[in-house]
Amino acid sequence: DIGIDTGTDWVEIGPPQLPGLDPAGHKYTRGLVHCLAGKMPGAIALAAMAAARSGAGYVRISTSRPIDGLPAAIAQIDTADMSDERIGCILVGSGMGDIPQVLTLALTSKAPKVIDADGIGALGEPERLKGQNAIITPHAGEFETLFGTLPGNKVEQALEASRRSGAVVIYKGPDTLVASPDGRAGFAPPAPAWLASAGTGDVLAGIAAAMVARGLPAFEAACASVWLHGRAGELAGPHMVADDLAAAIPSALDLL
Ligand code: AMP
Ligand code: MG
Repeated sequence: DIGIDTGTDWVEIGPPQLPGLDPAGHKYTRGLVHCLAGKMPGAIALAAMAAARSGAGYVRISTSRPIDGLPAAIAQIDTADMSDERIGCILVGSGMGDIPQVLTLALTSKAPKVIDADGIGALGEPERLKGQNAIITPHAGEFETLFGTLPGNKVEQALEASRRSGAVVIYKGPDTLVASPDGRAGFAPPAPAWLASAGTGDVLAGIAAAMVARGLPAFEAACASVWLHGRAGELAGPHMVADDLAAAIPSALDLL
């Protein structure tokens, strides 16, 4: 009993059911995650690596400046064709910095989106998310920037934010919640406090984008990413850094 009566359908987020591997598949059918870089390429690199480790078939980053030290498996391109119908999920916001044009570009795509970090701040109005089939991943500060101070407890706030924006909301923190515009809510099983370090949020965004690109609906993808992120954190151990967290995702997937 978590002591909250919301009058909504609560689920404790459990191990996800992921789509199986199609023996006749190719990299695009396994899911293309298209990342949009911004001012801090390290953050989008972490998110991209997490997406690749989460089973996306193809992860690429649109960037105007080559990113050093990126794993060879992740493609860098200097164009951003948002009408490419093969895109399974756009990932935007991680490390974007104050370049709101990057977000605006992402919003022109018909593909589902994961919007993190500065991308959340740059939205301005939650209503801009209507019809975007988006997952947003705010921590408390980003949540308040977009939605202001909402009444109620954390789950009530997350559900109201989801209703207003039409987006699935992963409201992060020591007590991460997932809220869906249709009123569903999920709470994460306890995650280790050592996740509180730089870059772990970028890893979560990358996992979520891969889950969407692999074909999960937004709410299920968000819940799956929260579960895998927490388990990867446990497996990576108390002295992990965000790179280790991304590297532990395959071991978390092996738990399924
Ligand atoms: P960010 O705020 O974007 O850096 O993301 C931080 C990530 O670490 C989110 O997934 C949070 O849910 C998680 N996190 C932060 N602090 C804690 C904590 N004390 N216990 C468990 N998870 C945490
Ligand atoms: Mg963050």
